[in-house]
Amino acid sequence: MRVNCILIIMLGMCYNLSAQQHGTCGTVQDEAFMSAFRKNKANWDKTIQKGLVDRFVPVTFHLVAKNDGTDRMPVDGVYAALCKLNDRYQAAGSEMFFYLDGINEINNTGLFTNPRDNRNALISNFDERSMNVFVVSQITGGAGTGNTLGYYSPGMDLIVIQKGNLGDATYTFEHEIGHFFTLAHTHRGWEDQPYRPSDYPEQITFTEINSTQVTNPVRVELVDRSNCQIAGDEICDTDPNYGFGFTCGCCNMLWTVIDRKGDTILTPPLTNIMSYATNCNEYVFSPDQIVALQTSYDASARTYLRNTDVTEYKPIRDAVTQISPGAPGSLETVEIFDDILFDWEDVQNAEFYKLRINGDVIEVEDSEYRAFDQMPNSIVSWSVRAFTKFGAGCIDETTEIVFRTGDASAAISELDFVSELAIYPNPLVQDQALSIKFDASRTTGANVAVFDVAGKKIYTEEVRITTGPNVITVPAGSMESGIHILKIETPDGLITEKILVD
Ligand SMILES: [Zn+2]
Repeated sequence: MRVNCILIIMLGMCYNLSAQQHGTCGTVQDEAFMSAFRKNKANWDKTIQKGLVDRFVPVTFHLVAKNDGTDRMPVDGVYAALCKLNDRYQAAGSEMFFYLDGINEINNTGLFTNPRDNRNALISNFDERSMNVFVVSQITGGAGTGNTLGYYSPGMDLIVIQKGNLGDATYTFEHEIGHFFTLAHTHRGWEDQPYRPSDYPEQITFTEINSTQVTNPVRVELVDRSNCQIAGDEICDTDPNYGFGFTCGCCNMLWTVIDRKGDTILTPPLTNIMSYATNCNEYVFSPDQIVALQTSYDASARTYLRNTDVTEYKPIRDAVTQISPGAPGSLETVEIFDDILFDWEDVQNAEFYKLRINGDVIEVEDSEYRAFDQMPNSIVSWSVRAFTKFGAGCIDETTEIVFRTGDASAAISELDFVSELAIYPNPLVQDQALSIKFDASRTTGANVAVFDVAGKKIYTEEVRITTGPNVITVPAGSMESGIHILKIETPDGLITEKILVD
């Protein structure tokens, strides 16, 4: 059991940190932080006059790993976090939309486990055109007690967060973004010694409270709002919060607490994103907090966030519907094994899809994919998910469809009008051209295409097949080393051949 006695002299008590299972935030909300907020508040009227305006926030995620590149948060986690972030900020009524501007992978064990002592790595990776979020495994030292889940650094203007806490149930990411846009804790000053009946009397009579996250003592906020402009978070529509919800690990007011004027605190903002309560179904911002977020975005200091790249919020709202092959819940057989078309319906706003075939993920832009590398008489499973820069993953990935391949090959070298087919050299080296030589008994159009092993088309040409001898050439340098699939498609069938490039 750890006991925190930092403030033992001041308050004459200790309290036990083990009750704080949920961890805390390490954002310093000192006088410099609050003066930025006060500047913000002076411009609220301008923001309110503007009315409803969509605001788009580009985000760069710096995904940090150990020196050897291990333990990095997967990119899918970024998309899932963005999706939740957008849903949550929308539910809160912010009219702010967050989109992926970039992913930067950093291998740096020091930064991964101790970002506070690796400021240079933070600064040198800073992107000047977006909100910067560094995703690490651990945050040690600095302000805040217990396990620090994340913090916003006003000096460097960036967010650092533990990788397990993006999109978490207590809205850690959404909370740190609140700090990014100047918001303080609703319980500012009470971070180190939050209210609990064993530590405090029923009536709180002192006028100031201190914590390691502030420099000067913070005025204790009153229920009658007589000091709300200068006490606590300095926002009037968030009622007094003396850290309730923090120690109980709950979402409701368990105690009778009376302020120094004799008013009972009935509605502390426990479900507020800038509070520390846990087990709330949903967390929100107050109307004044939303104005503060918007005003911060509009400030000259945040000019770098505002660009015209993205002007419309286009989230993914629909699940992907799979078309073929196979069907959910039945094991169909697909006769041809070496040319399988995976097909699904277009999803509105999808920018790309991740198709998972037997666990391997392939990124594709179209809503279909041709696979040439499956084996005969094998079991194949597949699922697919749609992505946009606004995130993905709020809608479940499709169910996995499982089917069986037959042993028929798509390769038909006996097109009835083709004879004497020779494809050479095979294998070939990269600086050689590939020749396709044959005799045809009639004239027809054809498409020649080469696919790499991932199914990506890397060469294509429309040709005319004429009666008599034909030679088609795929130019040297078209293929890199590895396995390729050559396809010659005609209205009457196709020729497929595996080409090996050394
Ligand atoms: Zn915080």
